[in-house]
Amino acid sequence: MNQTIRIQKTTSPKVKPDPKNLGFGQYFSDHMFILDYNTDKGWYDPRIVPYGPLSLDPSTMVFHYGQAIFEGLKAYKSKNGKINLFRPEMNMKRINNSNQRMSIPPIDEALAVEAVKTLVSVDRDWIPTEPGTSLYIRPFIIATDPYLGVRASNTYKFMIILSPSGAYYPSGINPVKIMIEDEYVRAVRGGTGFAKTPANYAASLKAQEVAHDKGYVQVLWLDGVERKYIEEVGSMNVFFKIGDEVVTPSLDGSILPGITRDSCIRLLKHWGIKVSERKLAVQELYDAHAAGKLVEAFGTGTAAVISPIGELNWSGNVITVAEGKIGELSAKLYETITGIQSGALKDELNWISEID
Ligand SMILES: *Cc1c(COP(=O)(O)O)cnc(C)c1O
Repeated sequence: MNQTIRIQKTTSPKVKPDPKNLGFGQYFSDHMFILDYNTDKGWYDPRIVPYGPLSLDPSTMVFHYGQAIFEGLKAYKSKNGKINLFRPEMNMKRINNSNQRMSIPPIDEALAVEAVKTLVSVDRDWIPTEPGTSLYIRPFIIATDPYLGVRASNTYKFMIILSPSGAYYPSGINPVKIMIEDEYVRAVRGGTGFAKTPANYAASLKAQEVAHDKGYVQVLWLDGVERKYIEEVGSMNVFFKIGDEVVTPSLDGSILPGITRDSCIRLLKHWGIKVSERKLAVQELYDAHAAGKLVEAFGTGTAAVISPIGELNWSGNVITVAEGKIGELSAKLYETITGIQSGALKDELNWISEID
């Protein structure tokens, strides 16, 4: 990293939203980070400027062919007044994995972590302090050539914006009802499932709408080839406790390698619990349930951290998991990860990066 980040502060700071009514992704802080790319200069001119709209030509490539990637992480204010980031280097490493798949040139991961830290520090007053709240950080890259030919762009913008967010579970964790999706698929091996790219989200909306209409919160995706194996739930990774083994689908190219997923696997191993990353057929899950061996099910992701699953519907075949309550392991993982993030628990696995 050999570039300095220039800072231009706003002269008209915004009125901050009510910290008790933040919701998610509705409010944006006073500043944003921008880094440009062209083929001559590479990535150049890292800067923090007042938050505001972009002016882009209607022919800008990202609007037409979707060459883009994004990330999501959070900053937390700890009790001792420090600002904590949770494994930010993992997000920046994942940007480069996503970039490679989407033909976007690699970024300097150290500069990107520094950009997050500097931006969060500039907008530190935007980090909410109510229990469970955080400052959501959204880095993203878009292709910016004004050109309609189909090829990779020669210019890009890497940006970071910040959004103060409310508690994901304002009234306590509630297990969700999940529809196992048997018509639409999210990704296939060889496609873009492992990349954090907007196209995967666009392609998932339809199934989500259908599930919502039937009273389900999210869909559980099956593999796109055989429609047999469990992949993810909504935009979260998924875990099942079957007997005394915790199972999560292996990363075979169609699944997004979640940082919360990785953190759960590490914690479970740290606690001496058996974790397997392997193929898991939905039939095996239903058989385990019939045999009384399906103990818990939960999704993992930065937004919710842990989202317990209370009910599954597979083509009309409905099963209840953990009596529709939060399981013991789900609760322990949730308490541990959020405790480390907020600074309430010791960071034994060295996951916190402090900003002072
Ligand atoms: C971001 C994302 C996840 C979760 O990843 P985390 O790093 O844990 O937030 C899981 N699945 C999909 C499809 C995602 O986009």
